[in-house]
Amino acid sequence: MLSKLPDIETTIFSVMSRRAAETGALNIGQGFPDYPLDPDLASCVMEAIQAGHNQYAAMEGVMELREAIASKLKITQKTTVDPNQEITLTCGGTEALFSAIQAFVSAGDNVVVFDPAYDAYEPAVRLAGGECRRIPLMPPGFRIDWQRVRETLDAKTRLVILNNPHNPACTIATPDDLDQLANVLRSRDCHVLADEVYEHVVHDGHNHVSVLAHPELRDRCIAVFSFGKTLHATGWRVGYAVAGAALTREFRKVHQFNTFSIVAPLQYAIASYLGRKPQSWQGLAEFFQRKRDLLRNELLGTGWELPPAQGTYFQLLDYSALSREKDVDFADRLIRDAKLASIPLSPFYKVQPHLTLLRLCIAKRDETLREAAARLRGFAAS
Ligand code: GLN
Repeated sequence: MLSKLPDIETTIFSVMSRRAAETGALNIGQGFPDYPLDPDLASCVMEAIQAGHNQYAAMEGVMELREAIASKLKITQKTTVDPNQEITLTCGGTEALFSAIQAFVSAGDNVVVFDPAYDAYEPAVRLAGGECRRIPLMPPGFRIDWQRVRETLDAKTRLVILNNPHNPACTIATPDDLDQLANVLRSRDCHVLADEVYEHVVHDGHNHVSVLAHPELRDRCIAVFSFGKTLHATGWRVGYAVAGAALTREFRKVHQFNTFSIVAPLQYAIASYLGRKPQSWQGLAEFFQRKRDLLRNELLGTGWELPPAQGTYFQLLDYSALSREKDVDFADRLIRDAKLASIPLSPFYKVQPHLTLLRLCIAKRDETLREAAARLRGFAAS
């Protein structure tokens, strides 16, 4: 049988979570919370089901929810978005990414992607017949070299994928980065797919700057967000894509034949929850920063280095003082010997550099983070 993606294996997230389950290791690899969601949100789901919201939702998403999203974007990004023509609910951020790529990338097109790149981008581009031009970002800063981007763009470049806050580098883009992006794209027929699912996990008083709030990028961007991250419910698979009306029309042509519409009671539940607690997401930055700092403090002076983390659900862990092993092998050893599952970074690069970095998820109960740190300390000491 001819495979369309012969070199693509099961995602590193699933692999590590499965190994954690098989070996009974503590899983702080894959990014998902291990604490409960707000009981009020859970009640909203039961209410929505009992109210009879159990049939197909509108293909674009439930109107009340799209209106709530528009209100939220007005507050977070001071930007006006038309809920009717510019917002589409999707099956998680992943479907939004996939549908956008199928809508805007054709055979022979190029797509610029920054490594370490979230693993859903490249397979979707290849299935659309396109090819990724991957630009590596290197530690410690993982900053984008905009001159290199300029040199990489060509007449066939149809899309640039910008992940901000960046998973797994844990960096955030600056307003200057967005200006630079607008500069290099000026007069080009190229869109921006902005994966902004960690919009609320930005530390140290910084604000998330969305492409939607950028006057020049606004018309050429599709921005992707996730209620899974915002409401601590990654298993719900409710995300959304925001783009200008013309782009949204094309996006919906794919979305309607991909997932058609998203779980109706969950959409109604989120809409009524946001109606009752419109600012429920406002404490998220502090919530996650405290968890990041808890983990960092627990590992101070233990041989593990923790590079600065500006955002996302994650914190990188540098083991160069402990070992020169390849990160994939080291992560394996950590599962076996420390009973701790993490995510190595090199699988997110096209050309795998020798990195000594692992990614840990901070979206965990304080006890989980303390236990993880205790296992890491014990491992380092032995
Ligand atoms: N976004 C999650 C992470 O980075 C993984 C989601 C998935 O497993 N597909 O850990």
